[in-house]
Amino acid sequence: MSRKDKEKEYRGFEQGPIRPPSEAASLLIRVTRNCPWNRCTFCPVYKGADFSLRPVEHVVSDVDAVAGSLAEILRLAQAPGGLTRDGVAALMERLAPHERPAFSAALNWYAAGMESVFLQDANSLIVKPAGLVSVLSHVKKRFPWVRRITSYARSHTVARIAPEDLAAIREAGLTRIHIGMESGSDRVLAMVKKGSTKADHVKAGQRVKAAGIELSEYVMPGLGGRELSSEHATETADALNQIGPDFIRLRTLAVSPGTPLAEAREKGAFTRASEVETAQEILLFLEKLTAAGAYLASDHILNLFEDLEGRLPEAKPAMLESVRSFLALPPAARTLYQVGRRMGLFRGLADMADPNLAARARAVVEHLSITPENVDDTIYRIMQQFI
Ligand code: SF4
Repeated sequence: MSRKDKEKEYRGFEQGPIRPPSEAASLLIRVTRNCPWNRCTFCPVYKGADFSLRPVEHVVSDVDAVAGSLAEILRLAQAPGGLTRDGVAALMERLAPHERPAFSAALNWYAAGMESVFLQDANSLIVKPAGLVSVLSHVKKRFPWVRRITSYARSHTVARIAPEDLAAIREAGLTRIHIGMESGSDRVLAMVKKGSTKADHVKAGQRVKAAGIELSEYVMPGLGGRELSSEHATETADALNQIGPDFIRLRTLAVSPGTPLAEAREKGAFTRASEVETAQEILLFLEKLTAAGAYLASDHILNLFEDLEGRLPEAKPAMLESVRSFLALPPAARTLYQVGRRMGLFRGLADMADPNLAARARAVVEHLSITPENVDDTIYRIMQQFI
């Protein structure tokens, strides 16, 4: 059977490898497989995996399979004795192996509150608008209580969707789009082969907003390396100011082993910015950022400051203060903070005042002989574990 024939055959409920951190409680419905672009030099997620569209009827079958399992779970939950481990095991036992993934997905979703659905994988908006409308309508039909249906999308794709099609997609139920902007600098975007320009990002973002869909933009501090750090900060802030997204999420660059960016770094073609330089870049980015009404979050262990959080412009002074305070620390104290942060002890600078947490971070600094001179390389090795 050829690859194309295999793709036409329904192989049961599928889930892709990733979703945004904010979609941890969402039901994952796989609309396409992998990434249609797959060339970003920093991204390890889908390398070596072919992209394919899933036929709409397969996605509909997945939704029906979850709905069927959910009906069984709800029936058990409402029966005398409720949902017990033994009851769930007995239900699972009766299922054929190919039916179990949908049952597990339904069970996890039930436990998480069944409020949201995330369409996978990297760029569901590449599906023809009519197909996406069919999928969304079916999700709404089977799960009418759902409050949020979201998806990843590429700016290059969204910028080419007609406003009336985006409006139809919103009407059918898509409430939020997550876009990996990474940078607003054309030089940085070209360097990392993002396949989207600043103009694409701005056009796509403005179209999403105009269609009445919530927009979450991901920004990657450090992506310009040392050479393009300032331009990366100012151009990204400018693009976001023009778009006015609902959410801005920071996710600092971690150079993943085996990626083209790691190769460029080894050859000396890309110079990773130090953590202090990245903090200076974030400070410049925040100084230039207006994007009134956007909620900025920095909720990832790859980020040096997890406590940069809040709605703009009100939260901006505290964010600036946080980064400036870090930069004003003596080198040894900065090192202590960096290590404590990567150990998950500190969320922000204020946590250094906790003597217990500070003592634990200090013990590691001493044990591993970490100094201001070698802290970046040590942190780099630690960060590889979080990718
Ligand atoms: S578009 Fe997204 S998923 Fe695809 S290669 Fe780039 S970063 Fe990775």
